[in-house]
Amino acid sequence: MAGMATEAHAPTDAQGAAARRDRAVRAAVAQGLVGGTDTAPPLVCLLDTDGIRASAAALTSAFAAALPPGTPVLHAFAVKAAPLVPVLRLLADAGLGCEVASPGELALARAAGVGPLRTVLDSPAKTAAELSEALALGIAVNADNRQELERLDALVAASATPPASPIGIRINPQTGAGTIDALSTATATSKFGVPLRDPGARAWLVRAYLDRPWLTRLHTHSGSQGVPLPLIAEGVRELHALAEEINAAAGRRQVDTLDIGGGLPVNFASDAHTPAYEEYVAALRAAAPALFDGSYGLVTEFGRSLLAKHGLVLSRVEYTKTTGARPIALTHAGVQLATRTVYAPAAWPLRILAYDAKGAPKEGDPVAQDIAGPACFAGDLLATARELPRLSPGDLIAVPDTGAYFFTAHYGYNSLPRPAVHGFTATPQGGIRFALARPEQSLAAIVAEAGGDRPDALL
Ligand SMILES: *Cc1c(COP(=O)(O)O)cnc(C)c1O
Repeated sequence: MAGMATEAHAPTDAQGAAARRDRAVRAAVAQGLVGGTDTAPPLVCLLDTDGIRASAAALTSAFAAALPPGTPVLHAFAVKAAPLVPVLRLLADAGLGCEVASPGELALARAAGVGPLRTVLDSPAKTAAELSEALALGIAVNADNRQELERLDALVAASATPPASPIGIRINPQTGAGTIDALSTATATSKFGVPLRDPGARAWLVRAYLDRPWLTRLHTHSGSQGVPLPLIAEGVRELHALAEEINAAAGRRQVDTLDIGGGLPVNFASDAHTPAYEEYVAALRAAAPALFDGSYGLVTEFGRSLLAKHGLVLSRVEYTKTTGARPIALTHAGVQLATRTVYAPAAWPLRILAYDAKGAPKEGDPVAQDIAGPACFAGDLLATARELPRLSPGDLIAVPDTGAYFFTAHYGYNSLPRPAVHGFTATPQGGIRFALARPEQSLAAIVAEAGGDRPDALL
């Protein structure tokens, strides 16, 4: 029995994930979370909590298997990928911490009960007040640039005791771009970190550590979606080599922890979880074997790879029409949920799945259709000429792989509300249990956030 349950839950098994999704869609309709008529909401977002737990476990075990027992490792989830307090709590329960990059993200991590020792603050534009708060809390900080380091100098000098926060510097290894320029963090001119290959930079960095005994970490995040594993690994190899150089110059193991960032790419073309965390670890071992000898503690900052495959948008097809011979389905899922896909469709293609009004997979010969969102601009399309069974009003479309940076990164165009997010788990009886993680944004909240309490302010 236990073996069977494990098999049914195994999210890395693409068939298992697809079967669980079909059950969840049917249950969401049956339980009135979404529906083909106005008796239920037209739009809902779902998160597969079993899948999230399994991804967290896969990450943890991939590193644990490669490191000597007892090596300190913190897997800090990049909060920007899914800034929902219940998600952060779920991940914390699975042993993960948080990587935060704004006062808002820090507040979310704290609301989820993630403590300072399990929180890492990155961001290229931290204010003096943010830095001072982080040091007061004892949160790990990675300085982005020389001027930020000077601010930290002043804070450290003003304090009677050495900082409780582990502090590091973010390095841009300048190893090059991936296929998506906007997500390539390690180009020669990237805005992030201290550029390692610029003239004089390396010597400056070594000196910076020798002058500051409280600098004990080095950080890089050398890629995200579209950056191939060997290129990410090359950035981490550069980080390790710099740490060794600093420690040799210091004559002690001053740098004791390497924060290697996140960036494992996600496969948006099928249910397969590729590449796997094991492949990432294997690429790192190939590039920098000494990284795994236990002489450094490690911090990772994965975001997309932990959540993306576990999110699903479900929308009613409100209307269908044919324009210029192309069938168009008008849905409620558009730019507010899939901003990158709508504005950069070639870089961010999403799959679309068709279901009938009861939530059963829709059958029928494929017809090229446009899947349009609700926003009032012509480009609000999730897909063009997509081959799907011909959709009718009251059908549902599902958009998988949207658990990171999609519905959790809402875009407020047309004052469209943030939809409800429900987590789901498969029960041992074969049912689906939903739990509300974020209610739908109310119209009152939209008005309030739009200055609704001061209508006369500009008169
Ligand atoms: C966005 C970001 C991450 C997470 O990247 P993913 O591609 O979602 O894994 C990690 N670290 C930093 C500094 C980031 O900016």
